[in-house]
Amino acid sequence: MFVVKGHIHKFHPDDDSWSLPHAVGYAKDKWINPHPDNPLRYTNHSCDANCILSAGLKVKTLRGIKKGKEITLNYSLTEGDAESVMGPCWCGSNDCKKNILTVHHLTRKEFERYKRYLPKWIIDEYNKNKVK
Ligand SMILES: [Zn+2]
Repeated sequence: MFVVKGHIHKFHPDDDSWSLPHAVGYAKDKWINPHPDNPLRYTNHSCDANCILSAGLKVKTLRGIKKGKEITLNYSLTEGDAESVMGPCWCGSNDCKKNILTVHHLTRKEFERYKRYLPKWIIDEYNKNKVK
């Protein structure tokens, strides 16, 4: 659907200035903060998202999206830093988890739904540090 373009950031635990509300993880310890004109900048989270960030920073659709419908991404599928906190969720989907958690908190069944779209680094992160 579209490719994410933006500034690359590497996390430094001692860097207090770390606050990039639009950034998404795209590799181990790396995030991309989309340029203001990139659609990802305006893509909200949903626990039942209609798009996914796949390898090569490509955002792909998971199902048909009707004209005028919001494009959403499950931020959990982009966050491989186990200590990351993303806050509460009000997406309103039937499967809403009420909190946006890292990939490690997905059940095996949930993860398997998305696995074929995901880049290798987040699959490895999930398998290494799965919570449930
Ligand atoms: Zn939700």
